[in-house]
Amino acid sequence: RSGFVAIIGRPNVGKSTLLNRIVGQKVAIMSDKAQTTRNRIQGIYTTKDTQMVFIDTPGIHKPHSRLGDFMVKSALSTLGEVDAVLFMINADERRGAGDNFIIERLKAVKKPIYLVINKIDQIHPDHLLEIMDQYQDALKWEEVYPISALEGNNVEELVETLKGKL
Ligand code: GDP
Ligand code: MG
Repeated sequence: RSGFVAIIGRPNVGKSTLLNRIVGQKVAIMSDKAQTTRNRIQGIYTTKDTQMVFIDTPGIHKPHSRLGDFMVKSALSTLGEVDAVLFMINADERRGAGDNFIIERLKAVKKPIYLVINKIDQIHPDHLLEIMDQYQDALKWEEVYPISALEGNNVEELVETLKGKL
């Protein structure tokens, strides 16, 4: 079984950290170069019976130029070709314009979209409920996963769920 998974979210929410944790030593391609106009394969997760290709989709932010506009369109077209989308947010930050911009674009994407709430190691559990409340109705989420990419909480569960839907 194999599948493609796109990860999107504002800068610094922890996308690369999650990729590192999922792919770990099994990394086939790992690149953290400056953003390019192309979407890039960031890592491939392989087990005996599964291969999952994770794609970092930079550039979904409010464009200020024609190049920026091109990047947004290019990133969005990638989302049409994957099997699942992980939309990652930082549990420690309020929902902002950057998140809303991405959410608006995701409304047109007819793929299972997972809300991944990262950095739960940094917040009080009560705050998690608040964050979930802020995002609950933003989109029709396939599932909501609070995780710590840094410490690993709930990451295996997320991967298992993705595998199960391939
Ligand atoms: P990206 O820009 O979305 O790829 O974000 P990075 O993966 O580069 O992470 C940005 C910063 O957040 C780094 O300093 C990470 O160590 C930190 N970070 C990522 N995930 C977590 C997490 O689960 N908990 C905490 N406390 N910090 C995290
Ligand atoms: Mg990164």
